Amino acid sequence: MAETTVTNWFGDLVSHPKVVVEAHSADDIVAIVKNPGQYPSPVRAIGSNHSTERCGIADGGTVIKMSQLDQVLDISNDTVTVEAGAIYIDIAKELEKHGLQFYVNTEIGNITAGSAACCGTKDASMPGELGQVGSYISRIKLVLPSGELLEVTDEQPGLMQKVRSSYGTFGVVYEATFRVRAIQPLSVHHETFHIEDFVRQFPALLARGESLMFYIFPYDNLVTVEFRHYTPGASGDPNRTIWPLRNYLWATAGPAVCAQASAEIDNADVRNGVLSSFNAWWRLKLENLIQSDNTVATDQIIRYPAISNSKYTFSFWAFPEDTYPQVLAAFFEFAQKYLATSGYRINMLCVGYRVAQDRSSLLSYSYDGNMITIDPVFTANAGWSEFLGAYNQFSSDRGGVPLMNQTFGLTRAMVQKARVTGCGRSPRLASPLIQAAAFSTNISVIFWRPRRRPAPKKTLSDGEGLCYRHRGINARSNTTS
Ligand SMILES: Cc1cc2nc3c(=O)[nH]c(=O)nc-3n(C[C@H](O)[C@H](O)[C@H](O)COP(=O)(O)OP(=O)(O)OC[C@H]3O[C@@H](n4cnc5c(N)ncnc54)[C@H](O)[C@@H]3O)c2cc1C
Repeated sequence: MAETTVTNWFGDLVSHPKVVVEAHSADDIVAIVKNPGQYPSPVRAIGSNHSTERCGIADGGTVIKMSQLDQVLDISNDTVTVEAGAIYIDIAKELEKHGLQFYVNTEIGNITAGSAACCGTKDASMPGELGQVGSYISRIKLVLPSGELLEVTDEQPGLMQKVRSSYGTFGVVYEATFRVRAIQPLSVHHETFHIEDFVRQFPALLARGESLMFYIFPYDNLVTVEFRHYTPGASGDPNRTIWPLRNYLWATAGPAVCAQASAEIDNADVRNGVLSSFNAWWRLKLENLIQSDNTVATDQIIRYPAISNSKYTFSFWAFPEDTYPQVLAAFFEFAQKYLATSGYRINMLCVGYRVAQDRSSLLSYSYDGNMITIDPVFTANAGWSEFLGAYNQFSSDRGGVPLMNQTFGLTRAMVQKARVTGCGRSPRLASPLIQAAAFSTNISVIFWRPRRRPAPKKTLSDGEGLCYRHRGINARSNTTS
């Protein structure tokens, strides 16, 4: 059988599955996993393929595309149930018609419900809330590698923890239910700090009790802090302009300018001067234009076009909050030294998200406490992957925790170290399946069918009264009500 080529959205990660198949129902997925002759292992479901690491690769195997399973099935006062291929921004727009919003409003609108249910995500936690999308998913329906159906709910917290961090290795998610809330006015403003002031004032910044997200400028020694909180008392029409403005500059104009400058300007001093000027303009815009006490959280979500001339990619490491100011200052030195010695410069900027302690998933990077990320963002200008190799080592050496779908170029040793010192204590990795995922640097190999299919068991783990049903029914007819 001829191999096909599947690339991720950015275009840097390539997979050569033997078969690419579109699922239109849970029954289709059952039929696929039960027919290894036609659909060889490994089997990977993919959503919008926006991951920046090789978690969706299925070389020699089967890729199941989920994009046709995109229906919003049910909206109640505090939940929305969707098919796994539905994308975040479409669900958010549907919720808005009902006066509802997500708890976590990521910048990315293309993430699918299926991916959100079983992978890591990040957004700055709102006061008193969590910052990982999957933590607000209360019910997940999957097709297991055996072809059996499994429904997991918040009533089974131990099993939910495992599914939420399974990266597709547990089975194919075909439906998910999110907890949602009434729309509330959202306040946002920005302030810029020199890195030395940032380090000094960090405790005071935390004490403000707001959501904290950082735009990080390592070559200018500056950090612009985004402060957000809900303002239930705000009146009048919300400002619907500033988030689209932020989004256009961030997702369209920014990558275009930086990629063009990197490609066209040979003189390094001039090129770096242009990039620094862009960053200065970026700060000016954040500080002066992206300010309001009455915005709509949903407006933060961006629909990244499938085909675009302005794309960016990034990597991810999260660090314990109490060491973050020192790690960030060391990162500035590291990035500047790397530029001086190799000539490579991150050609956009970096971002950081403060994410609250969260034990909703077994491999949660904030399992042990509040974490803050340093995510370098670039248009893959020449030298980027070597830079990330060095940055991975920098981060691993400082107790950083990676994400299996968002940290580029991890080594097995880094994942193992993060397991011991960061996101994982061994008791949490009791499931061999999850352990395998955590130890593999190419987790796509994990979802193999069992050689002999055992009869369905009553429990999969923890003796938690699993909802493990053998039903040959169609997902759509099972869930609409
Ligand atoms: C431009 C850009 C901006 C981004 N911004 C953010 C951001 O603001 N916040 C954030 O958290 N992340 C962000 N990301 C990262 C992205 O959200 C995650 O990588 C996410 O997992 C992508 O979702 P997806 O649907 O494209 O998943 P894919 O990349 O298609 O898949 C991810 C993993 O999930 C598995 N999977 C997918 N669907 C299913 C299913 N139905 N059942 C079982 N397994 C499945 C795949 O096999 C794979 O292992 C961004 C990425 C890009 C490129």
